[in-house]
Amino acid sequence: MEDCIFCRIAQRTIPARIVFEDETVVAFEDLNPQASVHLLVIPRKHLGSLKDAAPEDEALVGHLFTVSARLARERQIDSKGYRAVINTGEWGGQTVFHLHVHLMGGRIFHWPPG
Ligand code: AMP
Ligand code: ZN
Repeated sequence: MEDCIFCRIAQRTIPARIVFEDETVVAFEDLNPQASVHLLVIPRKHLGSLKDAAPEDEALVGHLFTVSARLARERQIDSKGYRAVINTGEWGGQTVFHLHVHLMGGRIFHWPPG
């Protein structure tokens, strides 16, 4: 997916503040942070959204969340709590169509979200 901005970040062909990577996922700072901690955790494999996750992606989607939890511990937002969310599709507020978990912390979040 040469025209996908998050694929290009994972391939390091466009810059981002990458904070973690392994064989299957990459995490980087959100360009427009909505909290003092705002990371995006993405699969290296291009999946347009959660809608495109197939049974074979189950371990990968799980790994996005366990890496998010690890990063939350490292950023010390786990004791107060944080939010890890996937916006999906137009009405879900998704603007970049490569699956990503928003890991946000450092302030209080409300429910339901807007
Ligand atoms: P969403 O609206 O859920 O699809 O989230 C997309 C997120 O990607 C937004 O929070 C943007 O601020 C963020 N974003 C867009 N382009 C970049 C980029 N080049 N580097 C880092 N974050 C980005
Ligand atoms: Zn992509």
